[in-house]
Amino acid sequence: MRCYGSTTGSPASRTRHARAARRAAPKPARDLLGGSPAVPGRRGAVIIAAVWIDTHSHLDAPEFDADREAVVARARAAGVVMQVLPAVEVANFAAVRDLAHAHGYAYALGIHPLYVHRAADADLERLDAELARLRDDPRLVAVGEIGLDHFVPGLDRERQERFYAAQLKIARRHGLPVILHVRRSADGLLKHLRRIEVAGGIAHAFNGSAQQAQAFVERGFRLGFGGAATFERALQIRELASTLPLEALVLETDAPDIPPHWLYRTAAQRAAGEASRNEPAELPRIGAVLAGLRGLAVDAFAAATAANARAALPRLAA
Ligand SMILES: [Zn+2]
Repeated sequence: MRCYGSTTGSPASRTRHARAARRAAPKPARDLLGGSPAVPGRRGAVIIAAVWIDTHSHLDAPEFDADREAVVARARAAGVVMQVLPAVEVANFAAVRDLAHAHGYAYALGIHPLYVHRAADADLERLDAELARLRDDPRLVAVGEIGLDHFVPGLDRERQERFYAAQLKIARRHGLPVILHVRRSADGLLKHLRRIEVAGGIAHAFNGSAQQAQAFVERGFRLGFGGAATFERALQIRELASTLPLEALVLETDAPDIPPHWLYRTAAQRAAGEASRNEPAELPRIGAVLAGLRGLAVDAFAAATAANARAALPRLAA
């Protein structure tokens, strides 16, 4: 097992954490609830039901075409009051925006690293123009999903870097945080973030080292954790999820992808690495696993990570 002692770091980073903690301090319950259920307790006290924010859901994915309304209803019934829907290419900008408006969710616009091969250079101008046109849309909360993927073989790294750097500049120009795709690419992402300072955001499905995690936190980022952390063999992710400062964590499903372990229903599915479709209603159970890793009460963990999401994507708070 690796030693993560160094992640709590320098006085400068502790100050930063203290500042982040103040920023992320839970708001009064009414504010956190956003209209979701508060149920009367037995002695007349009001017990606040846990509320969750899924900071990364591809609700527009074709996997949800047959039953999207039911997926949304299940998420709400489970206490997932907010979903952030990142775009992946210009062609789905309207879809994520329309879904966010239809359901009271939030969205991000950007070109995903796995889609840059079919994007045109002019799409960067389209993104810039859309962000300008939608400047006053409170549901537009970030530029994303952008980043680098050094896991999938055969991708054009130079083109990915060019689109990533250009989109960081666009995010900076519009004063928006970014939602980052990180796969074997944390150092490459950080290299550009040192050069092009943006308003923080979320490193989604984080799977890097403790040192890389610390570097993102120091640049004002929160790290997204989800279904991968439910696997006992995911030692590094679980270690990070347990030891990072609480104010650094946000929750996500990445639905329909990254299913938690319980969605691999049969031995045959497990052997083939095939799971049932992931969906936002799974977030509370994923959150309960993470809360357990940290020894925290589930409701308190839900509230803290929801506050972190609002700190990472300030327009969510509006
Ligand atoms: Zn994604």
